[in-house]
Amino acid sequence: MSTIGQHNLAVLGERSFEQKGDYETLLFEGRWHRSGELFERSRRIGAGLSGLGIEPGERVAVMMANSPEVGIAYQALWRAGAVVTPANFLLSVEELRHVISDSGAVAVITTPEFAGKVTDATAGLDGVRLVISSGEVEGLVPLSSLEEAEPAEIVPRSDGELAALMYTGGTTGRAKGVMLTHANLDYAGKAGFEASYVPGVNRGLATLPLSHSYGLLVTIASLHHPERGVGALLRWFDPVAFLELIAEHQLQQTAVVPTMLQILLSQPLEEHDLSSLRFVTSGGAPLAPEVAEQFIRRVPGVSIRQGYGLTETAALISSSPVGREKPGAVGLPVPGTELRILDEQNRELPAGEVGEICARSPGVMRGYWHSPGATAEAVRHGWLHTGDLGYLDEQGYLFIVDRKKDLIIRGGFNVYPRDVEDALLEHPALEAAGVIGRPDQRHGEEVIAFVSLRPGAELGEAELIDWARGRIGGYKYPREVHIIDAVPLTNIGKVDRKALRARLQDHPAPNVPEQLGDAQPA
Ligand code: AMP
Repeated sequence: MSTIGQHNLAVLGERSFEQKGDYETLLFEGRWHRSGELFERSRRIGAGLSGLGIEPGERVAVMMANSPEVGIAYQALWRAGAVVTPANFLLSVEELRHVISDSGAVAVITTPEFAGKVTDATAGLDGVRLVISSGEVEGLVPLSSLEEAEPAEIVPRSDGELAALMYTGGTTGRAKGVMLTHANLDYAGKAGFEASYVPGVNRGLATLPLSHSYGLLVTIASLHHPERGVGALLRWFDPVAFLELIAEHQLQQTAVVPTMLQILLSQPLEEHDLSSLRFVTSGGAPLAPEVAEQFIRRVPGVSIRQGYGLTETAALISSSPVGREKPGAVGLPVPGTELRILDEQNRELPAGEVGEICARSPGVMRGYWHSPGATAEAVRHGWLHTGDLGYLDEQGYLFIVDRKKDLIIRGGFNVYPRDVEDALLEHPALEAAGVIGRPDQRHGEEVIAFVSLRPGAELGEAELIDWARGRIGGYKYPREVHIIDAVPLTNIGKVDRKALRARLQDHPAPNVPEQLGDAQPA
């Protein structure tokens, strides 16, 4: 039997409650929840799970939209020694089935709204012994019945044992299970807290999906906060509710992905009292400088901080140091994390040169589930090869250039889609932009942009091509811009370049004869 580790997340939750005591802590859909109630429910459900035969180390999938029950379920699973396997509710039946069967989950916890999806996804999967629902659904075990159990002690799990098996977004290829231990997640939560702690800032808004490592990181970080924190939780991102909650409850900080900021810029920000808002942390995807600048201009007194990481590093690598944020940078490596920029031959590059970002830290995953080959490729001598391109400046600040796999090579020249997206997003009429390469006979690849407009904006595609051409090198600007209703986003709200590539079928490469003059980069 395992001994209980000092980084055990159930212990962390228990310690946090004992330290701060019972008070109104969480606002969800108009109702305040007390910390005592949340803690008590997680203790009972933890015991209930053990009572239903959930063994330490077994995986349990959780498919729920954000609600207090998500945090309760995670804590309950850790108390029972189980491994949380979050599944975003936007997953298709097929994708969910992959997560459940690949992880070997023995149970699923869900809500009535997704019960049908879970039932379809688990059909014929003999390993699934139990489906639990937070509300009454015929044939499923109600979560309330687990709450009847008498609270029990935490089932011991050591620091190196798994706390979560998280399936990566799958923006490239099939979703892989990332094995994160108690030590991995506790390290990242603590480092995230330390990098962002400002005494007295303890009123937050949580809107990121708790099924994603970034959302999980933010919640674990809050357990390290020594003050009695108050948080409003949104079921999912809703720009109007986001602004109203900040104004009504004087919230001071929040964490977002950049597309949320872009969507917020389409709102009448000036009509809301956002004077309490001090810190917005942006992570998960590249933040266009123009979007950050506009937001700061329109919400006086707010600082935008950036965080960078991957599910494979328990979501954290670097973060903007408080008060020393540098525009465009994703900050400095958090304490305990080392960074290197490597070239194709694995040689370390000096400041200013672009290469692959590699990180070593106590947050680096134990590996990919059942995939020693993929693990050996990603983690070499303890160093995670992120697949992201970036550089360090003289002060050690990290700048992200783009994902290595998304690099477009047009006529022998490197085009980072992000540069093109950033240039397009300087246009005030644009809400979102996604840029990809399309195989092209003449140039190897061609730069293609998909954009969506702010409500009410009218603009032609040619105008946008000219706009980009005026801002970036002649070899980089998009030769085609397609205005679409909504740029597809991943489950956490990143521009989904994989989905855009699928759309290329509707926009095949024209079979144009060679034209002199256009072959030169200009
Ligand atoms: P995920 O595993 O879903 O968290 O995705 C991790 C990827 O998101 C990284 O490899 C980066 O490509 C991207 N990413 C995360 N944070 C940032 C950031 N602050 N700026 C740019 N890209 C980011």
